[in-house]
Amino acid sequence: MSINFNKPEFIRSAADRSGFLRDGLPQFAFAGRSNVGKSSVINRLVSRKNLAYVGASPGKTTQINYFLIDKKAYLVDLPGYGYAKVSKSEKDRWGRLMESYFQEGVVGAITAGVLIVDIRHKPTKDDVVMHEWFRQTGCPEIIVANKLDKLKKSQVEPALALIRETLELDENDILVPFSAEKGTGKDELLGILNAAAAGELEPVDEPEE
Ligand code: GDP
Repeated sequence: MSINFNKPEFIRSAADRSGFLRDGLPQFAFAGRSNVGKSSVINRLVSRKNLAYVGASPGKTTQINYFLIDKKAYLVDLPGYGYAKVSKSEKDRWGRLMESYFQEGVVGAITAGVLIVDIRHKPTKDDVVMHEWFRQTGCPEIIVANKLDKLKKSQVEPALALIRETLELDENDILVPFSAEKGTGKDELLGILNAAAAGELEPVDEPEE
């Protein structure tokens, strides 16, 4: 079963658990800090300019957006985090939404977590927290290192090594260098998502305490 990502359809936004979808279709949950290029990565995967809204203003985005892909799987766009100018109440709302999503919304429902980080920077504390949340669900996780086009070739390997080290990835963890701008990594990521939907990806081991 191959999923045609060029057939996306917006289904709904969920601002609390009453909006969470659990109908048994595979779900790919996308997370990343604000401005990392999450919308751009999603748009690149589905070959659209504006399915996910690029440059969405913070403060209007504390919701989870569900897109149905080819009627076979959901792409779940989790709200971005780490935007400095967001108010305390907005941050609290984000925290509550994520808590209910990770605690009850998705146990067993996430097929794969996609954590998008910026290849130019050491993953932030928030990135590490999100990474741990994905790990705790036990679902396979894919780390996408976006904005590859902004690095010189010689900078790429050291940058990937820093991401691996900060997120404590081992050789079995999946790290995909990506450029939403240029399309680099798109086919690789689509292949991995299809494998995940087919149940061919190993779930991650929880790190030992
Ligand atoms: P989001 O807040 O994570 O959804 O990020 P956006 O998709 O809105 O992107 C934030 C900014 O980064 C925009 O100006 C994008 O054009 C830019 N951007 C996103 N991905 C890339 C990339 O791979 N390369 C470059 N050079 N810019 C990117």
